[in-house]
Amino acid sequence: MHVFEKNSSIFHLLSEAISDGVVVVNQEHEIVSINRHALDFFGYTQEELLEKPMQILVPDRFQQVHKEHTTNYFKTSKIGAMVEDKCLFGRRKSGEDFPVNISLHPFDLYERNYALAVIRDLTEEIEIQRNIDLQTEAMDSAHNGIVITDALLPDNPIIYVNQAFENITGYDRSEALNRNCRFLQSGDREQEGVRMIRNCIKAGKSCQVEVRNYKKDGTLFWNEVSINPIKNEDGIVTHFIGIQNDITDRIKTEEEVNHLVRIFNESLNEIFVIEADSLKFRHANFGACKNSGFSLGELRDMTVLDLLSEYSISEFRKLLEPIFRRSHAKITLETNLKRKDGTDYPVEVHMQSSTKEDRRVIICIVLDVTEKRNYTNRLEATVEERTRRLKEALSREIELNELKTKFLSMVSHEFKTPLSAILTSATLVGKYGESHNQEKREKHLQTITREVKHLNNILNDFLSIEKFEKGKEIYNLTNFSLSKVIDEVIYNANMILKSGQRIGYPKGVDELVICQDEKIISLVLINLLYNAIKYSPEDTLIDLQVTLTSDSLILKVSDEGIGIPEKDQKFIFDRYFRAENVLLTQGTGIGLNIVKTHIESLGGSISFESVENKGTTFTAVLPVDNNACT
Ligand code: ADP
Repeated sequence: MHVFEKNSSIFHLLSEAISDGVVVVNQEHEIVSINRHALDFFGYTQEELLEKPMQILVPDRFQQVHKEHTTNYFKTSKIGAMVEDKCLFGRRKSGEDFPVNISLHPFDLYERNYALAVIRDLTEEIEIQRNIDLQTEAMDSAHNGIVITDALLPDNPIIYVNQAFENITGYDRSEALNRNCRFLQSGDREQEGVRMIRNCIKAGKSCQVEVRNYKKDGTLFWNEVSINPIKNEDGIVTHFIGIQNDITDRIKTEEEVNHLVRIFNESLNEIFVIEADSLKFRHANFGACKNSGFSLGELRDMTVLDLLSEYSISEFRKLLEPIFRRSHAKITLETNLKRKDGTDYPVEVHMQSSTKEDRRVIICIVLDVTEKRNYTNRLEATVEERTRRLKEALSREIELNELKTKFLSMVSHEFKTPLSAILTSATLVGKYGESHNQEKREKHLQTITREVKHLNNILNDFLSIEKFEKGKEIYNLTNFSLSKVIDEVIYNANMILKSGQRIGYPKGVDELVICQDEKIISLVLINLLYNAIKYSPEDTLIDLQVTLTSDSLILKVSDEGIGIPEKDQKFIFDRYFRAENVLLTQGTGIGLNIVKTHIESLGGSISFESVENKGTTFTAVLPVDNNACT
């Protein structure tokens, strides 16, 4: 044995204190010393290795290379790594290869060359590294951004970001490392989420928040960040791990949904959601609560039939059948909705079915059609009114035409007798040339005058009707002397009196001045007096009485004539009506009709009492208001 092998106890003592494996090899490549660590990881006892060739510790596949290298090594004797940048392997007793790191230290002792090999078993280290690599790879392939900060360094800087962080933020690793995460907030610091992050970092707690962050190009993105502290064995926070999630799309969708919900809730159109099974209200928007007067809470205790009182449950369910059978997508119904205050309002209800949390519901969109209905009603009323007016105008026009036709036929008939009387009298007047025939001449002249007046009255009646029918008649109220009108009418009436007939002049009219339409008063008196004369025999009295009260003028014309047969009395004011007992007497049947029309238009009335063959009394009452004439 050589010196080293004999005096190896000191070396042993020293090498046991080293945490790595130590093997000393002589220049014959024999193991001359080996410490406990090396024995442990090679799996041998000392006896099994001492004085054995060191090749025993080298895997078969490296035997040749190793031998050459060792030989060469002893020649050049260099301290340092055996093979740089190469993964070396040892072989355990079990035959298993394992990674090692070897540094060789040559030394001479008593003129012999030795090499001291410091060997480290890298199995565990490589395993750890592989694990770290695996974890890093996993973190890099995660979709969520991952940020790790060092809580022990000032301002908690970023020490790691993964690939997803780079994708989300647009910053690459080198731009993010060693900075505090706040650069992602840009200037947008006043956020509830940011405040929460600050607090949880301060307290070393975990939290999850949503914050507005900004990409490298300035684009805003919503970041759902969950922050978790990492503590060491002493409970001190050494790192924070932040997991980021870009939730911009979700927030946008939520905003969109929220907007739609807001539109639904705030709409002034009424929207009710009803449970299909119970018909109870599930939801009602602002418009529905406002118009019905019920709060949402109140509606939830009610069924739809509380508002639609005109339907029974079975009727309403029947109504909904088509939408449940899906034969109709929508049902529209026009009805009335009951308000909380008991009033009704007309509505158009559009109903369709939907499902909510697996339960069938009915969406009812209710349109208040009060305005529409009012408008329709107004429109209908207007159309009705216009149609009525048109009809009136048309019938007036027809009547006027009839009147004209009748007038022409009547003219030919009614005018014939007076005109032939006038002609005869005029011819005879011409023949009575001598003075003693003066009396006869006078008589014929009177006939001419009477017949002309008669014709004139007929013409006046027709003109009056035409004016009235065309709506032209505008009454003209003036103050006038009543006696003057009465005198004129009686003067003219006297001319047509039959033999022995006389007119009883009214009493107490001399000083009377009244406010009325003078022409109409005259027309009324002429018609009533002329009829009385016409339908009374000779030697009878025609009496005219005039009474003025505080507000009316009463004209009463009585005669002792043929009277009006009872069965004809109800038609006496109808236009063109003539009683059966006057058919042989001249007349048109329009005088009384005109008189009545004018009197009533002025707010008065006319009536009569008549007994056949005894006499008739007509009473006309006309309103008198002196304030109407100023
Ligand atoms: P007429 O031109 O036929 O007189 P009126 O309109 O003046 O038309 O009268 C309508 C009808 O009323 C007459 O045809 C007649 O039958 C009846 N009548 C009117 N006044 C009298 C009267 N004083 N006595 C009897 N009958 C009368």
